Amino acid sequence: MLNENIYFCPYCNIKTNNSACCELCANDLKNFVNKNLGKTQYCDSFTAPFLYDDIVRDAMLKFKFDNKKNFCKSFCYFMKECDIFYSDIIVSVPSFRSKSKYNTADLLAKRMSKFLNIKYNSRAVKKVRETKLQHECDFNSRLLNLNDSFVASSNLVSGKDVLICDDIITSGATIDEVAKACKKAGAKNVYAIAFAISNGAFKNFSDFNKKFEIKF
Ligand SMILES: [Zn+2]
Repeated sequence: MLNENIYFCPYCNIKTNNSACCELCANDLKNFVNKNLGKTQYCDSFTAPFLYDDIVRDAMLKFKFDNKKNFCKSFCYFMKECDIFYSDIIVSVPSFRSKSKYNTADLLAKRMSKFLNIKYNSRAVKKVRETKLQHECDFNSRLLNLNDSFVASSNLVSGKDVLICDDIITSGATIDEVAKACKKAGAKNVYAIAFAISNGAFKNFSDFNKKFEIKF
């Protein structure tokens, strides 16, 4: 059983004294993004603390595939420092077929719920059909791959502002589809927060927004 009060530096895995990473790694974390990066067709605003690069990428891969669940608290420490809009409920991106044994978005959402004191419901968004792994698709097919693959519970999200939690924002297609499901179920505003955003995402987002004629 993990001691809840112990932080592990997710970048070098040494114990730290109740801080989100060790001092050495803090010097290497120069890519803190921490701003509202933009929006997609259905997601009103998304943000992430870091670019998916260097030590952030290494830490995320360990978190996802190397059973390093103890990184979660540290990741969320940074995520909660981002400019997040007030929301009534947190939802997570349902899991894909993946080599990961657990749903990383669900773990992050649980922790963010504690940090932000916003209720999290893991059943608010469900996956209703199987899709290919997003990274197996190119940008255009990512959108088609996910089209209408999620359904949100109107009982849980109708009339509410919703915060989607995910691990990485790559093309934005996933958070857009989850946001679409929430809006279809009556959500007012839908926001998204992830731990990292892909370097390539900025190009994708401009393509994405061109596609839907959205400016940001
Ligand atoms: Zn470190």
